[in-house]
Amino acid sequence: MPKQKSQRQQHKSYKLKHINKTIQEGDAVLMRSSEPGKPSYVARVEAIETDARGSHARVRVRWYYRPEESMGGRRQFHGAKEVFLSDHYDLQSADTIEGKCKVHSFSSYTTLDSVGNDDFFCRFDYNSATGAFVPDRVAVFCKCEMPYNPDDLMVQCEDCSEWFHPSCIGTTIEAAKKLDHFYCEECSPQQELLQNSNSTSKHTDAKPGGKQAEEQTHKAIGLTSKPVKARTGVVELA
Ligand SMILES: [Zn+2]
Ligand SMILES: [Zn+2]
Repeated sequence: MPKQKSQRQQHKSYKLKHINKTIQEGDAVLMRSSEPGKPSYVARVEAIETDARGSHARVRVRWYYRPEESMGGRRQFHGAKEVFLSDHYDLQSADTIEGKCKVHSFSSYTTLDSVGNDDFFCRFDYNSATGAFVPDRVAVFCKCEMPYNPDDLMVQCEDCSEWFHPSCIGTTIEAAKKLDHFYCEECSPQQELLQNSNSTSKHTDAKPGGKQAEEQTHKAIGLTSKPVKARTGVVELA
């Protein structure tokens, strides 16, 4: 008996003529939404297959969910480019792939010099049946005890290294950007004592004008928006 020809072929990589790009297993891609006007879906290519003649390519994808597609919806700490790696798989025609994109780890996303249209980040796996996230605990910051949203500017207390949202410490983003020095509420009294006892001040760029009294109660402000130290708190993620 002649050996039966396999109906489908598996490919490690495949050239998509309609976008003139080669996709590989593991690539993140943007796929056309079935609903007009909705943003493209983000997916990870798990496998690529064609018919026996190498056409009619289909991709097995693992979907990334946007926060608004999750059960808990979008929360304040979710970044604009945040996606969750779901456990939801599908087989799709490769024709619906609109282009490639990048899904960064959270830490590498926060070190990007600039965020392009095709840059996303993922810090949670998402169970589409239960709405649960992995990890279910994340570091929290500020008085509001919220996870870090990389889109939000935060200011750092020079003394305790805790990070704060300007709005949570009674100021605005514009005002926070102009601050040269910042101490949080808890650290301010101690700092006054230190300065009274003639302690060295690391950041005393003396400015002309009458702002010195104000500056004594503040210290170097962290405007890089990259928390270096955090408590781990329980946050209701689902
Ligand atoms: Zn806050
Ligand atoms: Zn402090």
